[in-house]
Amino acid sequence: MSFNLQEILRESIKNLKAYSSARDEFTGKADVYLDANENPFDTGLNRYPDPYQQDLKAKIAHLKNVRQERIILGNGSDEVIDLIFRAFCEPGKDEVIILPPTYGMYQVSADINNVKAKSVPLTPDFEINEPALLEAINDNTKVIWLCSPNNPTGNTLDPEAIKSVLNSFKGVVIVDEAYIDFSYSQSWIDYLDFHPNLIVMQTFSKAWGLAGLRLGMGFASNEIITVLNKIKPPYNINTLTQEKTSEILGKLDERNEAIDIILAERILLAKALEEIACVRKIYPSDANFILVKIDDATNIYNKLVEKSIIVRNRSNVKLCENCLRITIGTSKENKLVIAAIKEITS
Ligand SMILES: *Cc1c(COP(=O)(O)O)cnc(C)c1O
Repeated sequence: MSFNLQEILRESIKNLKAYSSARDEFTGKADVYLDANENPFDTGLNRYPDPYQQDLKAKIAHLKNVRQERIILGNGSDEVIDLIFRAFCEPGKDEVIILPPTYGMYQVSADINNVKAKSVPLTPDFEINEPALLEAINDNTKVIWLCSPNNPTGNTLDPEAIKSVLNSFKGVVIVDEAYIDFSYSQSWIDYLDFHPNLIVMQTFSKAWGLAGLRLGMGFASNEIITVLNKIKPPYNINTLTQEKTSEILGKLDERNEAIDIILAERILLAKALEEIACVRKIYPSDANFILVKIDDATNIYNKLVEKSIIVRNRSNVKLCENCLRITIGTSKENKLVIAAIKEITS
């Protein structure tokens, strides 16, 4: 099915004239800047940041092997999620599809934007239910939200199924790859050329260890990025975030070492969980957490809280009954949580 961006954009966005900031109207280098009503005295932060984050994007483009014009940065992935709703979904009319159990922000952002989110649950082994998904699509369906590796289940969605969704849907397909750096799968960024309706999302919050920084990435065609750039607040990525991220992108070795440790700990944590009698199932994980089905999960969760150890109780989530989601911590932290669960259940 052929994808036509103009056909699926909201009317008001199609005709939107973006705010033109001082830094839009003059982009060169000058000696004297008297155009943005900034304070002239140097505080280190008295100037507005680059609205398009050119230096930072050049570094990200190099790392991800993607052209700079195909990147949008947001104040966390959560901002990119919201931008996508505002670009494509007419409130009160258009719909999106989400595949629970999955990341909660897609539904919340849909609700905030007054957009109907239709749920097509994953299969019991947490894969895409393709027939049900095709069935759920109607003329008002604009966006399908996929998360791979998925949160909270930890699995990578079958790439063939994702490809089939991309090919059969004439709206936009998001592949949220927040956990891609913990998996051995290839990023969908490498397939942008083949799928004009694909938006890939990644984040600095997980593998990069920068959740406090708030920096999310979107990768898509130049045309889609141009639209999202028009909608975003002009200075959405502050100077400190741009500078700090540029600096940290130079420390790839340190990041990779941390990921290696987390991956080794993931194996150890899974092994240790296997030895606990009331553990029913350890779901395979391509992420920095493990979903585990365990007898009386809510009770164990509460007892862990009493011991000052907090995991995520997913028991009330459909298909995750009696499941806890445990983030991979340091070796010491993982030993503590295992010892605590053993004590609680013995
Ligand atoms: C953690 C997470 C994110 C990250 O969101 P940020 O706003 O970038 O911190 C995005 N998507 C999923 C599925 C996540 O689990």
